[in-house]
Amino acid sequence: MYLFHKDIKQTKTKAVCLLVTLLGLNFQALALEAPQPCRLLTAKQVFDGLNYPQTGMAVLIQGNKTKQIGTVESLRGLCRKELDLGDATILPGFIESHAHVTFQNVRKDAILEHGVTTVQDTGGPLQPVEGGQGSLRLLSTGPIIQAAGGYPLNVFTPHDTAGGPDKIGLAVASPEEAQNAVQQLADGGATAIKIALEPGGEPGAPWMQPHGDHAIPPTPWPMLSSDVVEAIVTKAHTLGKRVIAHVGEQTGFDLAVESGVDELAHMPCSTISEASLQKAVDAGITFVTTLDTLASCGPAGMHGNAFVLGMKGANFIYGSEVAHDNVPWGINGEEMHMMLHLTHGADAINFDDVMNVFKSVTSKAGQRLGMHPLLGTLAPGAPADIIAVRGNPFQRFKLLEYPDLVMSGGKIVINKFK
Ligand SMILES: [Zn+2]
Repeated sequence: MYLFHKDIKQTKTKAVCLLVTLLGLNFQALALEAPQPCRLLTAKQVFDGLNYPQTGMAVLIQGNKTKQIGTVESLRGLCRKELDLGDATILPGFIESHAHVTFQNVRKDAILEHGVTTVQDTGGPLQPVEGGQGSLRLLSTGPIIQAAGGYPLNVFTPHDTAGGPDKIGLAVASPEEAQNAVQQLADGGATAIKIALEPGGEPGAPWMQPHGDHAIPPTPWPMLSSDVVEAIVTKAHTLGKRVIAHVGEQTGFDLAVESGVDELAHMPCSTISEASLQKAVDAGITFVTTLDTLASCGPAGMHGNAFVLGMKGANFIYGSEVAHDNVPWGINGEEMHMMLHLTHGADAINFDDVMNVFKSVTSKAGQRLGMHPLLGTLAPGAPADIIAVRGNPFQRFKLLEYPDLVMSGGKIVINKFK
């Protein structure tokens, strides 16, 4: 009797265990199948990063991705959460391709709240990619590879001639040292390699203004030799990293182009010869603009270079140099305005030129970064980095500096439509 009772107890215990296990499994299965949060955004017009803004469209976001873009009628009712923004424009989050957020301790939340959802830091402490899910997505090149005694360490931290992975610059003296530096930066998470080819001396350039309590060192500043630059480019390309060069005048420009760099970090400050500009265009080099912060380089230099390159059909990417004190911490409407007026080419400004500016700060910039092929677009599968502004920013860039909605990786950061 006793044994029988014990058997029953054991059987009961086993049954309960089995039930719990089954329930546990069921809970797990349910958790896996639970639908990710779904949200529908509708507005008077939508720009998807690639095509002309369209009216009567909606964007369906699921989890941290854009799932679908289509007519309001076709998507309405698919999500429990719907946000109709009314007379507003939905766009991809903007991409800043030239910044020094970490080096200058700029607040990342302030940049994100002002419409920039992804930043490429181009000089400063090395760190792996971070953010993108409700916080600023930040890519880093780490320190700028430079010549000993040269720029940028000589201007920013003249007491430090060697630099290092946690500094603004890293000095190298030979092709071997340079290749080791590239490997070290790539291993530490650098998304691109930045070099400085800057002898100094350009009137109006920010690097010719005193920094802190030390005077500008006498020019010309030492520059990397061509064999060192070529070694850097070769090594970086082997590792799948593009090379960005800081140049401001003719000798640095020619060295960059002849060594096969991929991208120039600025519109050069001083006048570059037309033949050299043509060579750069023929080589397919991308120009990050930073026109606003370099405005004091003046019409003879920087403006003229931008205008000639525009006529030659050069490839431009928006960059505002976030961290400089003369530009906003976020989208810079004046940078877009200057791009439009200086780089539109031979014809009078038309809507294609306006679109090129918008693409250069969204889809074109995103593709260049190599993080995700759809970054900077609202295409299905793209990271759900989205902004919206009341009104029409294609008529008035300034509106973009104060977005009414900012979403990062599907998470709402700012919503002034409530
Ligand atoms: Zn810079």
